[in-house]
Amino acid sequence: MQSPIPITVATGDGIGPEIMTQTLRVLEAAGAALQPEFIDVGEQVYRAGHSSGIHPAAWESLRRTRVLLKAPITTPLGGGYKSLNVTLRKTLGLYANVRPCRSLHPAVATRHPKLDVVIIRENEEDLYAGIEHQQTPDVVQCLKLVSRPGCEKIVRYAFEYCRQHGRRRLTCMTKDNIMKLTDGLFHRVFEEIGQEYPEVEQDHQIIDIGTARLADTPERYDVVVTMNLYGDILSDVVAQLTGSVGLAGSANIGDSGALFEAIHGSAPDIAGRNVANPSGLLQAAVLMLGHLGQHDIAARIHNAWLRTLEDGLHPADIFHPETSQRKVSTAEFADAVIARL
Ligand code: NAD
Repeated sequence: MQSPIPITVATGDGIGPEIMTQTLRVLEAAGAALQPEFIDVGEQVYRAGHSSGIHPAAWESLRRTRVLLKAPITTPLGGGYKSLNVTLRKTLGLYANVRPCRSLHPAVATRHPKLDVVIIRENEEDLYAGIEHQQTPDVVQCLKLVSRPGCEKIVRYAFEYCRQHGRRRLTCMTKDNIMKLTDGLFHRVFEEIGQEYPEVEQDHQIIDIGTARLADTPERYDVVVTMNLYGDILSDVVAQLTGSVGLAGSANIGDSGALFEAIHGSAPDIAGRNVANPSGLLQAAVLMLGHLGQHDIAARIHNAWLRTLEDGLHPADIFHPETSQRKVSTAEFADAVIARL
């Protein structure tokens, strides 16, 4: 048997602890060779006076394991607090955010049964670079930072992803009709690097009409590469089209580390009620197992998860009288997945 691989685990805020508990139960029941090390992040750490939302001691675990499974956290509103998600991505150099979204028709109700789209989002630059200033009491500024090396890394990653996963088409989305320098650079790099991948069909769409078309006929899209903010919005749209934002997981990939999380937030509106869908974090865990080379266990969990959904055991967010057999709690959903491993 493989010896356990140390991973860092952050249980997060809101629904975070509930969905993490259930995800870890499934991982253990499936025989994943993992040795979790728990760190504190999020609201409590912000309140304790660490403006980055992460305790300095937690970095020691992250530097050693280089793999973080993270539940969503709540970023306090207002000045002085930095987004932990942005800090982690920048500090660990996690330049690619990969968000696969696929409809599970007929198991999960969706108006887009053939949707199978991967959003690849640049993860370190753009308006998320954290360069915000108070100019005067009434004027604030946020700088959009885009670099050629940053564009090259993410665009090449996206083409390589298509090649390795047998995906036929890559669409680049920007707003370069308005932001001619920043978005223009991203688009130009896409065209340059694209020449090295003639086997991948490629096109560019302006983000506004591109999003509208994607929301209307998602089955026409395959893989989309885009800038940080656009990718954040687009991936929520596409996940929701499959049935719920609660279904999709994401991999944040860097040269020397990786972070896996659900695409959704901490959902404070349903926290503590044992009703959240743990699927997004479970899918993130499946992506993590693939990253760690534990492909058999990843496939086992993925198949058990699919069978659970096919058997109509659905948490509230995807419960639909026509496709669901029974509305299940967060813990009951995990029980059902474990029973099908
Ligand atoms: P959200 O994604 O938390 O919730 C949006 C809606 O989707 C809510 O109605 C919620 O109940 C529902 N939802 C989300 N996940 C669900 C699940 N697993 N099962 C069932 N329903 C689910 O977005 P929000 O309300 O805008 O943000 C809440 C907090 O999360 C904010 O503080 C935000 O900063 C934070 N956030 C964190 C991350 C992260 O840690 N990666 C990402 C996005 C937002």
